Amino acid sequence: MIVLYLPQASHEVSCKNCIDCVNACPVKAIRNSGKGLIFDRVGCAEYVAKMEECLECITVCKAGAISMKCFVKDTEGKWVRET
Ligand code: SF4
Ligand code: SF4
Repeated sequence: MIVLYLPQASHEVSCKNCIDCVNACPVKAIRNSGKGLIFDRVGCAEYVAKMEECLECITVCKAGAISMKCFVKDTEGKWVRET
């Protein structure tokens, strides 16, 4: 089983929709749907695995609305949150 820590929007802290994280992501793995942020887990995970770490989106978020959570790769190659 492959496990990675990947970013996820926090439920406790409100996103201010500034899109700083969208602009900061080196692989364009975040987009603003208008109803919240959508992470491209595959693109993010590939980059995190290659670089061994990426904290760009978390670093630029002044609201503290993104945090790293544990994800596992399922049998279909999707990254799902480990509960
Ligand atoms: S951890 Fe890095 S690659 Fe992943 S969404 Fe954040 S900025 Fe993009
Ligand atoms: S940087 Fe933070 S506040 Fe701004 S859009 Fe991203 S999660 Fe929301």
